[in-house]
Amino acid sequence: MELVGQCMVCGKPAVSTCAICGSLVCDEHFFSRTRMCSRCMSPMEKGEEKDRLKQKNLDR
Ligand SMILES: [Zn+2]
Ligand SMILES: [Zn+2]
Repeated sequence: MELVGQCMVCGKPAVSTCAICGSLVCDEHFFSRTRMCSRCMSPMEKGEEKDRLKQKNLDR
């Protein structure tokens, strides 16, 4: 397993790179559907991300 860096959101080992800003992000903060990080997703699909975060918080 080769680590390329840390997630810019949570600091976990990153697995992907955002296609928009090029930031390293972990699996949790990378949206493979759009190839974007959660930060770049926010302005575009704010509602959806909010939902995801809500679910995560409830899960915890
Ligand atoms: Zn992360
Ligand atoms: Zn990004």
